[in-house]
Amino acid sequence: MKKSLSCKDVGSDCDFVICGKTEDEIFKKAKEHARKEHDLSEFTQEFKDKARSAIREVERC
Ligand SMILES: [Zn+2]
Repeated sequence: MKKSLSCKDVGSDCDFVICGKTEDEIFKKAKEHARKEHDLSEFTQEFKDKARSAIREVERC
């Protein structure tokens, strides 16, 4: 199983979907994406909690 996080699920009007094997990998990619696309350099604890609960288990992505 893999994990995926859709940018939309954390409140962005964005179709980007992040995929990874672990939560850490997801957060790493999410940070990169957020910095490039959304001008967001730091994640607040609130945002992290929100993102964590939006992560889904998927067969493949
Ligand atoms: Zn996005």
